[in-house]
Amino acid sequence: MTTLVGVDLVGRRVVVAGAGAVGTRRARGLAAQGAHVVLVDPSPSDAARGLAHDPPAGRVELVERAVTEADVEACWLVVAATANAAVDAAVTRWCEERRTWCISGARGTARSVAESRHEDLVVGVVSDAEPDPRRVAAVRDALALHLSTGHVDLRHRREHRGRVVLVGGGPGDPGLVPAAGLVALAAADVVVADRLGTTALLERLPDDVEVVHVGKTAARHPVPQSEINDLLVERARRGQVVVRLKGGDPFVYGRGGEEVRACRAAGVEVQVVPGISSALAVPVLAGIPLTQRGVASSVHVSSGHAGPDPAALAALAAGATLVLLMAVARLADICAAAIAAGVDPDLPVAVVERGTTPGERVTHATLSSAGEVAAAVGVRSPAVVVVGAVAAPGFLDDPACATEPGDA
Ligand code: SAH
Repeated sequence: MTTLVGVDLVGRRVVVAGAGAVGTRRARGLAAQGAHVVLVDPSPSDAARGLAHDPPAGRVELVERAVTEADVEACWLVVAATANAAVDAAVTRWCEERRTWCISGARGTARSVAESRHEDLVVGVVSDAEPDPRRVAAVRDALALHLSTGHVDLRHRREHRGRVVLVGGGPGDPGLVPAAGLVALAAADVVVADRLGTTALLERLPDDVEVVHVGKTAARHPVPQSEINDLLVERARRGQVVVRLKGGDPFVYGRGGEEVRACRAAGVEVQVVPGISSALAVPVLAGIPLTQRGVASSVHVSSGHAGPDPAALAALAAGATLVLLMAVARLADICAAAIAAGVDPDLPVAVVERGTTPGERVTHATLSSAGEVAAAVGVRSPAVVVVGAVAAPGFLDDPACATEPGDA
């Protein structure tokens, strides 16, 4: 019967007898855990030589001869993988005599474990029966997937160091939250959330996870950035795991950079999980490819908050697709400035409100009509505005816009 034991192999001598495919893979895994691996084989493969030359971590020493009894002297663990049953049996016996654990198929005193790592947690699967690596790996993969969904409460139960994780929650659809963000949320003691983004995730949090809303709502002004920074630092200093859940990507008009700076300046550990920015994802789900061979070869993302931006107008005039965030209030001004800068007044404009959510609405116009059309239909924030030929209605279905393979 097998019992799982977590052992620390860092810097410890481990002998792998046999540098075929299996032995080399085992040696790589052990080296990755920091072990000092001695790989013994009279004719090692190129892969084994490559591993000895450039191990992922730890050390790999290649010994080019047949394994001998002396090799298993003074090591912590042995893997018998010579592909020769008699040699493997001898290695296993030498280890037994020395009370050294030996992984050797069904006959060894130890079994290899299919592992997956989740920050400080290591999940291992092993079978008592004849080794069946595929089955064991399948169970390991299923567990790893489950742990990455965010359904498992991964908060530490003992006191630990506080930290801040900025998570890009994507543009709204919960399916667009990165798996790493779900794992971070599953470890959170407190979640500091905006109004925009994937608010549906907040409903799934356990009751004792505190949620602090800092975004602007119709009824309330947003919390000033300096207060948000202070909140993150103060909670982390209390020892809490703080998830700062942001819409889209934290570093795209998300002030994520300011929050990272504030944490670092205060000596608080901070990580960033990238998210899918609305600038990229919202057009996709509205059927607008931001680049298209032969039509648009670059994209300029800009904020419309302060009105027309010369760099954005220049990019548009040069043929780039222009993506504007926070542009609803100044849309008419921006379009007029683009026309004044010489851009074709008939260039298509698409306004996508509440993209990736069930409330999505796409409004099509041109540079000359966009201000009026947006006002007439009552366009409201949040919206992504795309300006360029790719924003024409039905662009993806229009055969005239198709390019053949090999076209420029
Ligand atoms: N960090 C975010 C952007 C924050 S600025 C990101 O990477 O997506 C806020 C602006 O993002 C909004 O004014 C709007 O222009 C855009 N936005 C965010 N979510 C959106 C959505 N679901 N639909 C349309 N626009 C969205």
